[in-house]
Amino acid sequence: MKTLTQEPIRKMSKIKLITFDLDDTFWDIRDTIINAEMNSRKWSEDKIGEKIEWGTFEDFMKIRNELVKKDPSLEYDLGMLRKKTIAYHTKKYFKDEKDLSEFIEEAYKFFLEERHKVTFYEDVINVLEKLSSQYKLGVLTNGNADVNKLGIGHLFDFSISSMDVKSNKPNKGHFIKARELSRVDFQNTLHVGDHPINDIVGARDLGINTMWFNLDNLNWDVDENPPIEFNKWSKFINLVKNNYGG
Ligand SMILES: [Mg+2]
Repeated sequence: MKTLTQEPIRKMSKIKLITFDLDDTFWDIRDTIINAEMNSRKWSEDKIGEKIEWGTFEDFMKIRNELVKKDPSLEYDLGMLRKKTIAYHTKKYFKDEKDLSEFIEEAYKFFLEERHKVTFYEDVINVLEKLSSQYKLGVLTNGNADVNKLGIGHLFDFSISSMDVKSNKPNKGHFIKARELSRVDFQNTLHVGDHPINDIVGARDLGINTMWFNLDNLNWDVDENPPIEFNKWSKFINLVKNNYGG
């Protein structure tokens, strides 16, 4: 009698689409933003030729909060928020409105360049390259980083920022838009991010599968139901396969 050799049964992956957060998921954002802020201040002072009173970090946050209070759309329009913050500190140096608005555009462009000087966590690019041949990939960010400016745009099927959906995660906007663009159901989608609420709870509440990038090995203190987590990108592909097949 013919014996059947036991072939390992490979389950088809349940996941068709993987969406990713950017800041603090693909790179550390804190140092990048601090550097971008410091270099932008220096750039402004060099352009204007005067020392500018920037105030403390608390002042910086207070100004931002006041601007958002006046115009709630600034909560998701980070570009405009930044431009208004620059105007707040520099308008007294300009007599001409046109000169001021030209300066603000240039200052913003400079900031944006600096903001993209990120250092990817180890293995991120390598892992994305491997995943991109097997899954649809998307970006869901509350920030204003642009994967096309980072040379990795070709690895993604789409990228959604808060400006695109006029809201921030954990609201539904990003997730709904991702479903619309990919035509993949929530149950076949996996969202990956560092933020317990914005990424994990936001996605989970809609029935999206989630994985928490927990670089600092924090405790899950949101509820009694900790998500699948990882702290190294080299572990990610196996984790997806072990949990969802493929
Ligand atoms: Mg993040």
